Amino acid sequence: MRIVVTGGAGFLGSHLCDRLLTEGHAVVCLDNLITGRTANLAHIQSDRFTFIQQDVTRYLDIDGPVDFVLHFASPASPIDFVRYPIQTLKVGSLGTHNALGLAKAKGAGFFLASTSEVYGDPLVNPQPETYWGNVNPVGIRGVYDEAKRFAEAMTMAYHRAHRLNTRIVRIFNTYGPRMRANDGRVMPAFITQALRGEPLTVFGEGQQTRSFCYYQDLVEGIYRLMRSDEHDPVNIGNPNEMTVLELAQTIIRLTGSTSTIVHNPLPQDDPKLRRPDISKARRILGWEPTVSLEEGLQKTIAYFREHGTG
Ligand code: UDP
Repeated sequence: MRIVVTGGAGFLGSHLCDRLLTEGHAVVCLDNLITGRTANLAHIQSDRFTFIQQDVTRYLDIDGPVDFVLHFASPASPIDFVRYPIQTLKVGSLGTHNALGLAKAKGAGFFLASTSEVYGDPLVNPQPETYWGNVNPVGIRGVYDEAKRFAEAMTMAYHRAHRLNTRIVRIFNTYGPRMRANDGRVMPAFITQALRGEPLTVFGEGQQTRSFCYYQDLVEGIYRLMRSDEHDPVNIGNPNEMTVLELAQTIIRLTGSTSTIVHNPLPQDDPKLRRPDISKARRILGWEPTVSLEEGLQKTIAYFREHGTG
């Protein structure tokens, strides 16, 4: 297949490009590089790969046939939502509309990278796909949550009105090599702080929970969903739930760091609990995560040791 990946220079997008190339597909990667980096693609040698620096919130015109459009472009870190609020809203809304339009024009399939953030600060734990969420539309995270909720609605509208062949994945916290050291998310923050011997900045008491999926498991789930015929949203994530404080202690132990822990204020609307219910992915994709937290952390720590923590 010839596959367009928006946001292909980002953390997940670039790993996805790698996987698609390994599977023998041709990949056209679009990215405006506000949070993506060409360094994430520098290792790619394949003549089946094309990079186009482009903002997907503007009209998309790709030469030649396209079989699938994978829409992965978006800032994905809470500090980026504050730094780029309008870009975050635009890429989830206008960008999704343009990517759907491209898929429709080419007769291609469409795959939306949605998020556990559609569940907001959930009142149900774990979160099944049938939960409608608890989102503050006007909070600092609302720019991401509402754009992704709009994106899901738009994707289903194209599916229903235009019979577009669509998929929606709801991605839970994912980590691994190629995250930016300073993107503000908890994994790169804690690992780089531990490697520098600085205090780990736990927000609030650190009793809020998250469930972390290694990127390889996530990419496998995404690839299986793409090959399936499921049009309704599917959660992909790791159900191994822990507190942020436990994560900090684990990272200090695995890095052998002398770092201490400090407590900073909890950001507005920070979800108190998050854990995917992955029964649906297990049932329809035969998928579940296989990489343990320790194994994934060891590899991610090795990456930041090698690539620097600045
Ligand atoms: N967090 C933290 N210290 C940091 C960064 C994040 O304690 O330096 C917490 C944050 O408050 C949240 C969790 O870690 O409860 C995960 O934050 P992240 O930004 O990675 O993503 P989120 O899951 O909130 O979208």
